[in-house]
Amino acid sequence: MIPVYSLVVPIFNEEAVLPVLLRRLDGLLPRLDGPAEVIFVDDGSTDTSPIVLEARARADNRFRLLRLSRNFGQQVAMTSGMARARGQAIVIMDADLQDPPEIMLDMIAKWREGYEIVYAQRLSRDGESPFKLVTANLFYRVMGKLSDVDLPQNVGDFRLVDRKALDSFLAMPERDRFVRGMFSWIGFRQTVVQFHRPARAAGETKYSLAKMIRLAASGLVSFSDAPLRAALWAGVAVCGIAAAYALFVVAAWAAGAHLERGWSSIIVVMTFLGGANMLMTGVLGVYIGRIHSEVKRRPLYFVDREIGFETSAMVKPAREEAA
Ligand code: UDP
Ligand code: MG
Repeated sequence: MIPVYSLVVPIFNEEAVLPVLLRRLDGLLPRLDGPAEVIFVDDGSTDTSPIVLEARARADNRFRLLRLSRNFGQQVAMTSGMARARGQAIVIMDADLQDPPEIMLDMIAKWREGYEIVYAQRLSRDGESPFKLVTANLFYRVMGKLSDVDLPQNVGDFRLVDRKALDSFLAMPERDRFVRGMFSWIGFRQTVVQFHRPARAAGETKYSLAKMIRLAASGLVSFSDAPLRAALWAGVAVCGIAAAYALFVVAAWAAGAHLERGWSSIIVVMTFLGGANMLMTGVLGVYIGRIHSEVKRRPLYFVDREIGFETSAMVKPAREEAA
């Protein structure tokens, strides 16, 4: 039987949280109003996560494991899992239970009302460092100001998407995949459900500072050309000032003023122009870098192994098991 619901869960060294996660999912799946599959994407874990998940995928045909050949990052891991999903509604969630799986029931209610994309919006965030809260807040603000898409505030990657929206998303060929921006960008009927985000159930965050910066940069550059335009306007302004200064010098000369004291100011203007030029070149370089990575058209990921995909028979949710 084709599942109605697909859950996509990226996993990177999550052995500490897996027992709790599997228990929560076992409790949730029978409460859904249709058959469901759970797709774990192992994003190059070096701990026992893939072993635990492989055992589950072999024992229970509602579970699948997709193992990527190395760590490609959460955005690519999610994309690879979504590409395998066969359900009519696909839910993406973190493994650490910061995205409580039970919220899926609220999302499904909205989906049944006809929304194609249902975001889970955080009303609060527990157990995050003040640094993470401040930087995340700043990021959402800057994105809101600069970007071409309306990125909902305090929304991560926890969301339900309809098959239609998913197929649109998968049809986007770009390599630099800022998933939440792409889902805003594709349109359709979008809505939110709100929740209080708990702390990580176990283990440590898998987002290093470097990964966070990379994600933020990817979001800005792939959904905004404001930096490019800012450089352009800065260049125009600087050139305008230089032209005004030149007019002033000519006027002063025509009026017969004694001029040789202007030497140092000319040096200042030249330096300033050089700096503006460098800034523009730098910004162009960022975009050209992106073009470069797009034209390479490398496969987004390579799959190491697939486990649990061969059976098409799904277990009917056993309602009597639900506590
Ligand atoms: N993750 C991943 N690949 C990575 C980093 C993280 O698949 O390179 C997964 C991770 O296992 C978790 C989710 O992405 O399921 C979110 O990561 P985490 O909870 O560490 O991020 P945080 O909540 O601290 O931002
Ligand atoms: Mg987390």
